[in-house]
This record gives sequence, C-alpha cells and structure tokens, in this order.
Amino acid sequence: MEVKIKVKSVCYGFGSILLVMTGCGQSIPEFDSQSAWKYLTAQCSFGPRNPGSEGYAFCREYLTSQLQTTADTVFHQPFQLANPLDGNQYQLANIIGRFAPEHTTRLLLGAHWDTRPWADRDPDPQRRSEPILGANDGASGVAVLLEIARILKENPPPIGIDIVFFDGEDMGLEGQPRTYAKGSQYFATHLPLPEPQAAIVVDMIGDRDLSIPVERNSMNQNPVLVRRLWDLAGDLNLPAFENRILPNVYDDHIPLYEIAGIKAIDIIDFEYPNRHANFWHTHQDIPANCSPASLNQVGTLLVHYIYGQYQ
Ligand SMILES: [Zn+2]
Repeated sequence: MEVKIKVKSVCYGFGSILLVMTGCGQSIPEFDSQSAWKYLTAQCSFGPRNPGSEGYAFCREYLTSQLQTTADTVFHQPFQLANPLDGNQYQLANIIGRFAPEHTTRLLLGAHWDTRPWADRDPDPQRRSEPILGANDGASGVAVLLEIARILKENPPPIGIDIVFFDGEDMGLEGQPRTYAKGSQYFATHLPLPEPQAAIVVDMIGDRDLSIPVERNSMNQNPVLVRRLWDLAGDLNLPAFENRILPNVYDDHIPLYEIAGIKAIDIIDFEYPNRHANFWHTHQDIPANCSPASLNQVGTLLVHYIYGQYQ
C-alpha cells in the first residue's frame, strides 16, 4: 500500500462464551483471537512471502489448503508481474474462496497475502534490500480472514461471502501508487466471480498499538458502509475504531472501485506502531509488534457485521 501522506484495548475473545444473541434472536458466532493468531504466526513461520521466495511457495499451498477445508469452491486467478526494479517476471496468483454461492447478495472480503521484497524504510541501510517478514503488512489481514473462513464453514452466513487473498500488492515503488495493488488491478479487470455489492479490504490490522481512523477514499467510495461499520464498532466497544478521517491510502480497495465499480473500503491502521515511530516496511514488522487482541477487534466487527446486519 502507498500512503500519499506518511502518517498510522481491547476486546479479548475467550472460548467460554461461544455465541452472542442479537435482538432478533440470530446468534452471532464468536471470533476466536487465538485461532487467528495461529494463522498469523503460521504465515510468518514460512519466512518472507515475497514473489519468487521459498516462503511464498509454501504460503500459497498453505492458504489454498486452508480455504479448501472451509469454502464451497476455491480457485486461483493467475497473472504475470514484473519486478519494477530488475524486470524479473513472476507468475502470481490471487487465491479465492467462495462461501454460500447460492446467495445473490454478496460481500467480498479481501487482504493481500504477498509481502514486500524490500525493507526500504528500515533504519539500517545495509538491510534495506532484504525482504520483510510482514507480520502486520500481509499476515494480519489474511489471518483475520482465515478465522472468518473457519466461522463461515461452521455457521452458514445469511449472505454470500467471497474471500480474496490478493497477490502482488506490495512490490510497488514509493511515489508511484499504481505500481502497487497489482493483484486487485488484475482481479477488477478480469472479474472472476459475480460482482459483489460491496467489498471490505483489511490490511495492517495486527499492530499492538491499534488505531483505525476512517481512510478518506473509503469514505468517498462507500460512505454508507463506513458509517455502518464504525457505528457498529462503537456499539461493540471496539476502541481502535476512531471517528476521524485521515489521508488517502492507495490499497486494494482502489482498483476494485475504479476499475470494477465495486463499492470497496479499506480497514487499515497506517501508523505502525504510532505517529512517533515506524515499523512499516522495516525488519520490525514481526509478530512481537502485533497482538491477538488487535486481530480480535477487526474480526469481531466483521463477524457481527456479516451475521447481524443482514436480517
Ligand atoms: Zn506494505
């Protein structure tokens, strides 16, 4: 993701209370933060997952097999991408899992699964050419969506859900936004599934010090969905969600809207860890700087939205 202006509590989930009842009697499954955390650390155990790396190949298999145990259908959307620095060509793939395909009302949930090939923001110039681990920038969004996939398998949702793990998000050059988000650009140009009514992208939502203001493009692209989600976060006492608007981020939600017309928003904490320090695109993007409690805030919100808002 590319930020135009460089800028970036907790609800613990325990297994003892499994269901929450809404006013209309629909039960809402509990998001299991420890399960989500395992999905984050599993991805990081493969090492950096930048295109062409060993970790990338292992993670591709892992994500595919995880979705195969939960989704109704799973498929890859392959595409080619050249590294903008050296011109090397890579065969990449968006990884897609479809849930409840019989529903015509559909929501897309997306996260990028590739990690950045360079730590170009690292304070140590000697290590800027090495790939980052991407615990937050890559693994965190995917982890929350893998846990939601597990929940969707056990609790048939009232709407159709398409989970898309976008590839090629983070091989871009700073100052050139459209060199990022290549997987979502390809997806939006060659839409491989029925067009969803809306999309929610999650990115960098594992930060231990989580704060999620409204991203400005999201407010322009789908203000109704933004207001509904941030209101719901208030009702659920999820303190990371803040009622202020901060600068534009070029992330996977932009191609979805600009190319395919999908009303997409981005849930993102782009101050990692906070406005006084930076772990983004550095070798500090590791599990120790993330937390299960942060994954829980975003996962809880999405689960309540899916199961509680479409009655
Ligand atoms: Zn990134």
